[in-house]
Amino acid sequence: MTTDIGQIALQNKSSGELSARLQSLYRDIDAAIADRSPVCTNRGLCCNFDAYGHDLFVTSVELAHFISGHAEAWRPPAAERRCPYQVEGKCTAREHRPMGCRVFFCDESSIDWQFAEYEKRLTELKQIGEAAGIEYRYVEWLSALSSVPLAGVRPIAEFPVSDGAVEFVDPRSLPVIESE
Ligand code: SF4
Repeated sequence: MTTDIGQIALQNKSSGELSARLQSLYRDIDAAIADRSPVCTNRGLCCNFDAYGHDLFVTSVELAHFISGHAEAWRPPAAERRCPYQVEGKCTAREHRPMGCRVFFCDESSIDWQFAEYEKRLTELKQIGEAAGIEYRYVEWLSALSSVPLAGVRPIAEFPVSDGAVEFVDPRSLPVIESE
């Protein structure tokens, strides 16, 4: 399936004001999540989407911000369905990672608040995108990364990836909000 989210995001990647707004929102999200104190027990397995059995979604305004931070060392997705920014089991994109990465936790205790937090933050992202004049898109993460025109970024040729060892599979899904 093709999507134009990459083109939209690339056209809006250089806005300092936009980045400041996203950074502020992400700080708020991180603080709200920290107050809940969820625990990560799967050690990054949730970034290996097939193994974990879920998907991550991203908005166009977030992808624009993500490109601003990673255009010079772009990691296009490989054939396997895992995030290319997870290297040796760790996220190499923590500062610019999208809202879904921040809100999702496998911790059982997060189920009670996770969906409401996700919806609230998605609404805020829509408002930020609207204010910046960026067309709204909401697309699965790997598809969104794949849609970014490589002519507009600088892909790195080779990078180490984790060995894909799967120790535990949790079938629960990320909160999924239908795109509009
Ligand atoms: S950006 Fe980081 S946290 Fe999000 S899926 Fe990729 S590796 Fe995981």
